[in-house]
Amino acid sequence: MRFLSPRRCLALIAVVIVIILQLLSTTLLIQAQDGQPVPSNPFLPIQPTPEPLFQLPFAVPPGPTTWLLGQPYGNTINAYYQRNTLYRASGGIHFGSDFSAPCGTEIVAIGDGLVFAVDGSFGSPPHNLMIDHPQAGYASMYGHLLETPSLIPGQQVMQGQVIALVGDGGSDCSAYPHLHLEIRDLGHLRKYNPALFINANWNNLTLMGSSTRSFMRNLAAPRTWQTLYDQPEVRIGGPIMNDFISTWPLDWSLLP
Ligand SMILES: [Zn+2]
Repeated sequence: MRFLSPRRCLALIAVVIVIILQLLSTTLLIQAQDGQPVPSNPFLPIQPTPEPLFQLPFAVPPGPTTWLLGQPYGNTINAYYQRNTLYRASGGIHFGSDFSAPCGTEIVAIGDGLVFAVDGSFGSPPHNLMIDHPQAGYASMYGHLLETPSLIPGQQVMQGQVIALVGDGGSDCSAYPHLHLEIRDLGHLRKYNPALFINANWNNLTLMGSSTRSFMRNLAAPRTWQTLYDQPEVRIGGPIMNDFISTWPLDWSLLP
């Protein structure tokens, strides 16, 4: 058996070091290409990078006797089945975040702002409230309220101020009391994902409910719109965005 000479041994070590350095530089190059670090686990949700502008709409922490995250914003299974009815007006997706809470739970303003409308034509009956946040460049809409908020258009509200009470879309608090919260532009036509704007531990909030697995999977693009953060913006009157041909779970209504 022949042993390598010290000279060849050094050459071999040098070659190995060069290979390792090349592998490292390739990895760094991939990371730098789009300015975003490549996630170590592609199935983990990617956190929004900018600092969230707003706070949660409740003064008390989440829990079984206070409030929990219900249906999240986006391409939910529930919205898919109602894309041509309840959610048709805004692209067929669930265009707000739902927070389940007992009727009468106090709702607070998510940011400083000015009341734009009380019981305006913004849906989410029986009562709703639109607050503009001019400094942030967005508006917040609070729907399915228990009663007409005792505020008037133009009135100033402060972040954390109690502005309304949780009600029920069925209006008598016997069905599914919850707050439907939307983030809109100041023209009130575009709707955005509240998880990108509200400072909260959204990952933990989903652990306390059944919402994490509730996004509809489009089998033609199975990784699209599958996390809390990766969801589309919509606008009122825009095209249906989730009219998928084949889905998972299966659309049983289309099966023979
Ligand atoms: Zn909702």
